[in-house]
Amino acid sequence: MTATAFAKKTVQHLDCAGKRVLMRVDFNVPTKDGEVTDATRIEAALPTIRYLLQKGARLVLVSHLGRPKGGPEPKYSMKPVQARLERLLRQSVAWTDDCVGPAAEAASMVLKNGEVLLCENLRFHPEEEKNVPAFAEALAKLGDCYVNDAFGTAHRAHASTEGVTKYLRPAVAGFLMQKELDYLGKALDQPVRPFVAVLGGSKISGKIDVITALLGKVDRLIIGGAMMFTFNKAKGLPTGKSLVEDDRVELAKAVLAQAAEKKIELLLPVDCIVSSATDGSAPGTVKKVDVLGPDDIGVDIGPESLKLFADKLRDAKTVVWNGPMGIFEVPAFAAGTLGVAKVMAGLRDQGAVTVVGGGDSVAAVQESGLAERFSHLSTGGGASLEFLEGKVLPGVAALEEAGA
Ligand code: ADP
Ligand code: MG
Repeated sequence: MTATAFAKKTVQHLDCAGKRVLMRVDFNVPTKDGEVTDATRIEAALPTIRYLLQKGARLVLVSHLGRPKGGPEPKYSMKPVQARLERLLRQSVAWTDDCVGPAAEAASMVLKNGEVLLCENLRFHPEEEKNVPAFAEALAKLGDCYVNDAFGTAHRAHASTEGVTKYLRPAVAGFLMQKELDYLGKALDQPVRPFVAVLGGSKISGKIDVITALLGKVDRLIIGGAMMFTFNKAKGLPTGKSLVEDDRVELAKAVLAQAAEKKIELLLPVDCIVSSATDGSAPGTVKKVDVLGPDDIGVDIGPESLKLFADKLRDAKTVVWNGPMGIFEVPAFAAGTLGVAKVMAGLRDQGAVTVVGGGDSVAAVQESGLAERFSHLSTGGGASLEFLEGKVLPGVAALEEAGA
């Protein structure tokens, strides 16, 4: 796949003055007692929203929130988002109780240039996730053109991400979507080399497609997190009571062989922090990976490994990171993850492109306070993983090519 495959038309290609713009956003935010408790995702969509409003668009916003079980549920109402959006935009945001039907259509028709309408949760209709054509067509009636700025749901072919584009065009990307595609797409397709990937997290099983896809692209692959122990087992090293996926040991062997064959440096930790508990109730000690005892649980990479990884990252010009190095949720076991975050922040300062994808990895970087020093933190956990696997995201494929 070439980089141009990701060159999608954006809102900048849109002639939107006086037009109703139906925009799919990711306002899947946490709420409590009718208040939004973390507005990060709303804030992330503001550049596109502001741009369109300034251009005189009549903006209709649709999103999902939570996992309603096929019908309206008050706790998953988008209503709290309306209030927060009004505060952020410093303008009133119109509301409609449904995202399809005559009332929603009427609400979209009375919008004036520069006004916004927020619709109730898309997933109050099971047809949204089933991508039912009639529902997609009904959604399409709310706009004269379509913008998708919800990268986080682009890996799902839902009515609001894929189906709707069959009835509503032009269909273009918002700035947030564009940024995701630019950073992830360029890192994978035109990486400035050396290109190093850092992989960690809990399970090799959830990441095997990412590992395989990256093996074909990177110059070096660094592995930490719990998945290191499945690799260690494959190499005949002791793993104690660490998280090992016994049914993936053969797979790990195959990955090691593949890396050797492709002459890709695959780096595993040389030491780790072990403990007798994963929750921080017992202290951690440093051990070389070849001397783990039968009761040792590996909870983080060790200091020697961090040095080795830092060394192997030193000349990197592109780094993609997915998966924490240890159980970073426990402060005593967060050093490896924080250490890698610091190294990557330094690389970015030297001009490297550094991209983090994956829900927990992004959370770890945000907690480290170093988020500003990364080139890009991907907002879409599952979507960024599928992207790293080299899959075509249906919500992206549905948008128009820039050259077209
Ligand atoms: P991401 O969401 O970034 O893709 P994952 O979901 O794959 O990352 O993995 C994150 C989880 O991996 C974290 O909850 C972390 O505690 C866990 N983890 C990392 N290292 C270990 C380890 N050595 N043992 C058990 N769990 C681990
Ligand atoms: Mg995760």
